[in-house]
Amino acid sequence: MSTVSERELKQLREHLGDRLNTEPALLAHYGHDSSRLAPEGAAVALVLAESTEDVSAALSWANEHEVPVSVRGAGTGLAGGANSYPGGLIISLERMNSILQIDAENRLAVVEAGVITATLDAAAKEHGLFFPPDPASAATSTVGGNIATNAGGLRCVAHGVTTDSVAALEVVLADGRIMRTGSRTRKNVVGYDLKSLFTGSEGTLGIITSATVRLKAIAPGIPRTFRAGFDSIEDAGRAVTAIVNGPHQPEILELLDTFSVEAVEAFHPTGVEIPKGAMLVGQTTGLDANERAEAIAAICTVNGASSTEVSESDSLLEARRLANPALNALGLRVSCDVAVPVASLAEVFNGLAEISKQHGLRISNVAHAGDGNLHCVVESNPELGGEAAAELVIDDITRYALSMGGTISGEHGIGAVKRHELPWQLDEASLAVQFAIKHALDPKGILTPARAI
Ligand SMILES: Cc1cc2nc3c(=O)[nH]c(=O)nc-3n(C[C@H](O)[C@H](O)[C@H](O)COP(=O)(O)OP(=O)(O)OC[C@H]3O[C@@H](n4cnc5c(N)ncnc54)[C@H](O)[C@@H]3O)c2cc1C
Repeated sequence: MSTVSERELKQLREHLGDRLNTEPALLAHYGHDSSRLAPEGAAVALVLAESTEDVSAALSWANEHEVPVSVRGAGTGLAGGANSYPGGLIISLERMNSILQIDAENRLAVVEAGVITATLDAAAKEHGLFFPPDPASAATSTVGGNIATNAGGLRCVAHGVTTDSVAALEVVLADGRIMRTGSRTRKNVVGYDLKSLFTGSEGTLGIITSATVRLKAIAPGIPRTFRAGFDSIEDAGRAVTAIVNGPHQPEILELLDTFSVEAVEAFHPTGVEIPKGAMLVGQTTGLDANERAEAIAAICTVNGASSTEVSESDSLLEARRLANPALNALGLRVSCDVAVPVASLAEVFNGLAEISKQHGLRISNVAHAGDGNLHCVVESNPELGGEAAAELVIDDITRYALSMGGTISGEHGIGAVKRHELPWQLDEASLAVQFAIKHALDPKGILTPARAI
């Protein structure tokens, strides 16, 4: 319930004018992300910020009145991190969507936090450059959201996660102070690495208002895509380990199991062969793209692939792009994004099959396989306990991934969805350091409280 008085809201309106909204329909629209979690309650107000000063005014007001704040980019997050708080304030970065500079000579771009990821990538392309982070949500997610979640994506196997592309940040702290960290240089060793601290902080330490990000040159030549079908998913896992340890590095290396390829073909037929176990799809770039794709296909054959193909067309990746919407269309929402060391992939797929058998529920696997990052989606059958039973399967998968030296989240973040899992991975001392950092930067606990950390 809100404890904010009309008089207090009026103070904020004096700063923000019509950038402050209280319409219930708008509060509902901006009050949830794309996760399976419903918001804890409705916010009292929404700030559609247009400048860093708007964000600063909103945060210093929230801090003074101890109002919980949820921060929103585009709301494509899958961890419940941007969901609103009862009686809280929502700060949206959506309107801060200008590309301020493309500095081609230094391969940098300066952007406001609300710029859509694919828009930045398209602008970079005009200079022969690209923005490496490419979550499957790139057409809708924001650069600020990508930085706040340290998002991954299809190209991570070649270019790393978002933090590897962040050079500098402008951040508004919980009390409204504006801070800049990082630099435009390739090397910079001054002070603690706060840029990395804020990257992946999921709206808990400050609000990112603008960023200087690194771009890369588009490789010359025509990219090639490759596909390999396997009768056994373990063999596909072994092939991934062999590929990433081999001399022919792919730009993309993804895995879809039979369940997910069947879901794609039922949703929007692409004509791709349905494998008996799993399919690997990927891409190579550069002048030797064809040789490398053929060499990767040969590694797949040696590791048990029953069919392979290499193509100039991008269409082999279509099934991968359709996997999320196809699984969503089946109403499957209970998922996780654990990651495991890439050399244990084959063993992990075996273990997942065991977990599936124990619970009597099917698990679909779409994986950023080259990174060992698995998106397991569990079937929820109303006759077998529905989503509650599926959540127990996710718990087992997560503990199993940890036992293999893995992590509870490779890219989606913790938010509210995985917060109960934190002590499974972080020891007591590590948790205490995390809470100390949170307390130092947000002593009143107003910024995305009780989430992520
Ligand atoms: C179809 C689909 C495919 C996806 N594919 C991928 C994928 O391949 N890889 C991947 O990593 N993720 C993926 N995601 C998840 C999601 O797109 C990412 O987490 C993305 O980075 C979120 O960006 P957003 O702008 O939507 O942020 P939001 O959902 O609005 O927010 C996400 C979190 O970041 C915080 N936040 C947002 N903006 C800021 C800011 N400016 N300052 C401080 N905190 C902020 C929020 O408070 C919240 O905790 C996918 C989601 C969908 C729906």
